[in-house]
Amino acid sequence: MPFGAPRVMKFGGTSVADARAFESVAGIIAAHIELRPVVIVSAMSGMTDALIASADHAEKGRMAVAHASLDEVLRRHRLVAKNILGIEHAGAAIARIDEAAANIARLLQRINEEPPEQKPLRDEMLSYGEMLSSDLLARALSKRGIMGQQVDPRQCILTNDEHGCAAPSLIETFLKTQTVLAPFIKKSVIPVLGGFVGATATGATTTLGRGGSDYSAALIGAALRATEIQIWTDVTGVLTADPRVVPSAQTIQNLSYEEAAELAYFGAKVLHPKTIQPAIEGGIPVRICNSQAPKESGTLVCAQTETSPRTVKAIAHKAGLTTVQVTSARMLGAYGFLRALFEVFERHRTAVDVVTTSEVSVSLSLDDASALPAILAELQELGSVRVEKGRAIICVVGEGLGHTPGIAARVFSTISDINVTLISQGASSINLTFAIEEEHVNEAVTRLHEAFFGHANANAGGVK
Ligand code: ADP
Ligand code: ASP
Ligand code: MG
Repeated sequence: MPFGAPRVMKFGGTSVADARAFESVAGIIAAHIELRPVVIVSAMSGMTDALIASADHAEKGRMAVAHASLDEVLRRHRLVAKNILGIEHAGAAIARIDEAAANIARLLQRINEEPPEQKPLRDEMLSYGEMLSSDLLARALSKRGIMGQQVDPRQCILTNDEHGCAAPSLIETFLKTQTVLAPFIKKSVIPVLGGFVGATATGATTTLGRGGSDYSAALIGAALRATEIQIWTDVTGVLTADPRVVPSAQTIQNLSYEEAAELAYFGAKVLHPKTIQPAIEGGIPVRICNSQAPKESGTLVCAQTETSPRTVKAIAHKAGLTTVQVTSARMLGAYGFLRALFEVFERHRTAVDVVTTSEVSVSLSLDDASALPAILAELQELGSVRVEKGRAIICVVGEGLGHTPGIAARVFSTISDINVTLISQGASSINLTFAIEEEHVNEAVTRLHEAFFGHANANAGGVK
């Protein structure tokens, strides 16, 4: 690259919830100006949820509710524009919000009238969340005298046409991102892009899946060979457990890419599961920071990590899962059976999370069970099938897990009164994963956290 490598800084929805939050994000960017920031921002908190709810109403013909349900978030956008820019200078920003509101109204009408076009229309609608927040943030920077320019992410992120969960084409995305953003970086102008949004080769708007702005940041970071990809959020880094379940969870100072990927995949919402892959390929460190406590160093994710003597780094969990068990004597000594079984899930585009096998049965867990009826009809041709809904997965993660005796015994004795199924230790030996009934998940995570990170067990000097 003909200029120094930039730093990617991604700010999540809670980091831009109101005018004060926008001001403090602008301050954080200003403090890093010499590192050539490239900024990615999510929609203001609540905006994507409100847009989805509004589209749902429109789909069901409740047009008045569909429009009314956006009033509060749109009002919040106008208020931010007035508060950060001053009433006399907010005209252009407010005109953008009004124009977005009018376009959204037209899209709601089409969602109601053209059901087969649902998915592309919804993506078009959702993109306004990120387009408006990035416009406001670029203006907040300019107001501070910093050269910031909104850039449409559809110019950079090229995806397939799987609306709602589009997959990027990496080579084209990298080339487009370099071509579009290099001139800004060279001129020391800070590009501000909405995350989550991309476009197909024919220019249709797509989105990368809920929470996908982290993934946008990683893709852009990899394309620009950034010095670091920073994910700024509302907690200080990756914590030893979900703080909504374990309020005493502590910040983990260091994680390997693999540890972070396992935690993200198995429920640590702080990182979108796809964020780590582009970072690994580019060898780029990922740092998770708190936009409300910018001086704290947060969590650094990179290739090297210290394995702490305590071994367990964190406990992630994910509820709302379904487990499926297929039993068939045809499995005994046969080849091709597992392929036939997984092809069923592939045909129905359904991802499988955890898999365990015995001589005559295969058990697996599913996050998205929307295609389950069709899947079951096909699985029944392979063997007898048992389905259990309302399951949760708990994933205990740490690089040293595979070569430290006694961890599994300690995990299962801590929750010995709770029925455990689907036990799996990944090939990488850095996680121990198992399923339980969803209603026990908070209790189990709390007890496991106490066992591994409680006062008597705390690692000296915090969690490395
Ligand atoms: P953003 O809007 O910044 O993308 P998210 O809501 O997507 O933020 O992710 C941050 C939230 O993730 C935290 O507020 C926390 O409640 C949740 N979370 C779940 N598990 C963890 C964990 N292990 N460490 C940190 N946060 C976690
Ligand atoms: N705004 C999108 C969402 O709420 C993407 C993101 O925040 O990462 O899912
Ligand atoms: Mg997020």
